[in-house]
Amino acid sequence: MSKRKPNRGGKRTNRNKKAPQSTFKPKDVVVKEFEYTEGVTVKDLSELINKSPADIIKLLFMMGTMVTINTSLDDETVELIAMEYDIEPTKVEPVDTLTLEDTIEDDPALLQERAPIVTIMGHVDHGKTTTLDTIRNADVVTGEFGGITQHIGAYQVTHKGKRITFLDTPGHEAFTAMRARGASVTDIVIVVVAADDGVMPQTREAVDHAKAANAPLIVAINKIDKPNPNFERIYSEFTDLGVTPEEWGGETVFVKISAKTGEGIENLLDTIQVAAELEELKANPKRLAFGTVIEAKLDKSRGPVATLLVQKGTLKQGDPLVVGTTYGRVRKMTDSRGRELQEAIPSMPVEIIGLNEVPIAGDLFRAFKDEKESRAVAQKRNVVKVEMDRNQTSALSLDDLASQIETGDIRDINVILKADVQGSAEAVKAALERIEVGDGKEVAVKVIRSTVGGITESDIMLASASNAVIIGFNIRPTAAIRKKAEEEGIEIRLYNIIYKAVEAMEAAMKGMLAPVFEEVIHGQAEVRETYHVSKVGTIAGCMVTDGKVVKDSSVRLMRDGVVVYEGKMASLKRFQNDAKEVAQGYECGITIANFNDIKIGDVIESFGEIQVEQE
Ligand code: GDP
Repeated sequence: MSKRKPNRGGKRTNRNKKAPQSTFKPKDVVVKEFEYTEGVTVKDLSELINKSPADIIKLLFMMGTMVTINTSLDDETVELIAMEYDIEPTKVEPVDTLTLEDTIEDDPALLQERAPIVTIMGHVDHGKTTTLDTIRNADVVTGEFGGITQHIGAYQVTHKGKRITFLDTPGHEAFTAMRARGASVTDIVIVVVAADDGVMPQTREAVDHAKAANAPLIVAINKIDKPNPNFERIYSEFTDLGVTPEEWGGETVFVKISAKTGEGIENLLDTIQVAAELEELKANPKRLAFGTVIEAKLDKSRGPVATLLVQKGTLKQGDPLVVGTTYGRVRKMTDSRGRELQEAIPSMPVEIIGLNEVPIAGDLFRAFKDEKESRAVAQKRNVVKVEMDRNQTSALSLDDLASQIETGDIRDINVILKADVQGSAEAVKAALERIEVGDGKEVAVKVIRSTVGGITESDIMLASASNAVIIGFNIRPTAAIRKKAEEEGIEIRLYNIIYKAVEAMEAAMKGMLAPVFEEVIHGQAEVRETYHVSKVGTIAGCMVTDGKVVKDSSVRLMRDGVVVYEGKMASLKRFQNDAKEVAQGYECGITIANFNDIKIGDVIESFGEIQVEQE
């Protein structure tokens, strides 16, 4: 931690009181170098170089330029100021906060060799897992490191003094999922093929993936310890796929291995290193880290845990980060052997804790200079994502337009689903979306966000924006989150059994069904007299002939069996007093709101509506 540059913006507030470095720079800290972005203001620059704005304004005044604290400075002026104070300026590109993508063009002079990142693919049972295990364990045997290996989604080994990074997620799903999210992390693809089985459907798929990713390919013919391997057949099958072995005049190296006995593994690692050299894999380690999430989960005791693959720059303990739409700080960083690290250079996979939420594999991450900035970027990205989620919701209902028209009103119960693991999130989501109430079309559950991890403020913001209920599965909200939800009027429901969640949701949905009203006739009265009173209008002197008439009820005026008017009763009196209702056989005075054309012999029907339960 002590190695971190003290060149972050000096601010009055200091959120992280325990951190040995505050964001506040004491007066006597001498800044030797700083990074700035285009259009930096005098105020920002003063914080970056730890000089007062007044000093900078004075300096520029002496040079013949009048500026204010909010003036944006051009590069030349920044360099002049830096020179004056003997500080090294570095201009950096502003981060594309929307994609988090890396747009910085590194100075070729700053590039350094980095380890190749290797993915192993191939048909099921051809030995991907065994190969990964053998390589990992061989490294333990050579004894460079100790430590218990743990699965974090990627690991590094050292071979002949150089490192190789392996993505430890065999199978094509992880690879394609990452690529689908736009992440390209693999430099070299190894296609494992069993000598006794040859090219199979997933072998072909693996070759396709490698080609699509434009990654160099090495074929590892595995299980050569088994009797009578037929290499010629395998060469021929691969040649048919456009992958011709060197032995046959092609360009692809085929390495014969036995993952079980370890034979040929050394040779495979050599081959990887030769391929890596040809690729000239380089990155600039001297900048804020950038990379990709390999794996992420919620750990009951440690909170969100993510495996990050650093692709550029150096990730340091304590660095503020934006990861996907979440943010945090590298609180602890370990490698696949569980050893704690202070720094991670390009191509290193590290497991970190300290994020606020669980990101998704394939998400990009970036380190920032100060936490305030990372928080702001994450919040902005979250807002954009909320917008996108919302647009998706309306896009969906557009698709359903036809059925909406058919069934009339469709309303959705928007649900934000938070679960302990991806599997349960998916199961609960599927169960909720299957619920049918009434004829199954009137009310639908719409899961607008489904993620792994505890309920966060951004969930509550989204719930509030989209009128959603938050359902937590196997998780508990913190007291602070509960309070926040209360403030925002957001309902949080917690379950640990799927059918309980479904039952409760069904009940809620029944309550939400469009209420159906049925008319109930209270009774009828015959108009025997009419009186016209100014300001009041026509008072009908009536005899209740059937049932009762009820104050404030709806009324129908019928003349010769035809409804002349329908409206509201304005008053109901017995003698001079207001009455709540008047029963059959009694006289009463009735006035009808906004209607005076009442004639002797008319019949006034008093009626109401009751809501009918729907099953
Ligand atoms: P994956 O599905 O591609 O990950 O394949 P595994 O690594 O799980 O291996 C499938 C089976 O093949 C297991 O029973 C392994 O023990 C076995 N196996 C893997 N490599 C070798 C090898 O080099 N020789 C022999 N004889 N068996 C192997």
